[in-house]
Amino acid sequence: MRVASLGSGSKGNSTVIEGREGRLLLDCGFGLKETIRRLARLDLTPMDIDAVLVTHEHADHINGVAPFSRKFHIPAYMTPSTYDARRTGPLPALKPIQYEQCFSIGSLQVEPVVVPHDAREPCQFIFSEGSNRVGVLTDLGHISAHVRDRYHDCDLLMLECNYDTEMLASGPYPAALKRRVAGDFGHLSNDQAADLVGTLNLPRLQNLVISHVSEKNNQPALAKSALTQVLCDWEGVLTLASQTDGFDWIDLSP
Ligand SMILES: [Zn+2]
Ligand SMILES: [Zn+2]
Repeated sequence: MRVASLGSGSKGNSTVIEGREGRLLLDCGFGLKETIRRLARLDLTPMDIDAVLVTHEHADHINGVAPFSRKFHIPAYMTPSTYDARRTGPLPALKPIQYEQCFSIGSLQVEPVVVPHDAREPCQFIFSEGSNRVGVLTDLGHISAHVRDRYHDCDLLMLECNYDTEMLASGPYPAALKRRVAGDFGHLSNDQAADLVGTLNLPRLQNLVISHVSEKNNQPALAKSALTQVLCDWEGVLTLASQTDGFDWIDLSP
């Protein structure tokens, strides 16, 4: 199993999950040309993608989904309210999914996990194949007990480190938007992310990927410093998913 990112942040998100059989795109917040360009960096074309999964209807996750799915006849998986919230016209194959109802794409097992975020029916995902388990966790306002439980044992975790509390408070956002971002249904701060990381099964975790970093309210170095405080003897690899470059393939040992 291997994982790569086309880009991560409020201007567009998309992650590629590849199994022995089957390769899927998680979210597509980029336009058609840009998606194709970013796939090419990973030596992929749209024909290599078997399915698109959508976490929620915010533009940075869903904007590119319908054009991509229509143009290349790729099935799109999302919760019914995610589709209803942003009716994008007919999709060649719309596959409704439900919280906590696992399904498979090729050899990949997919588990949609409910998260607290200000969208209609948002979910995040855990992917497994054999003994490998990959978690993607962005766009949530706090760590619920359920999230802490589901994401405890991962080999790779992409984790939102959206904002630094002081930078958000003193930054350029209007007060209402600051309240939204910092609220229980907004985004995770570096400290909230670190709090979760401190409770994970760290001996198992091989790769931790700092994701969905705000360009205005955070700096990768601040996120890294918050996480390293709870990663004392950890022997894994810490990576950054950037807005422009995402990250290159990470291979998981079987
Ligand atoms: Zn987002
Ligand atoms: Zn969102």
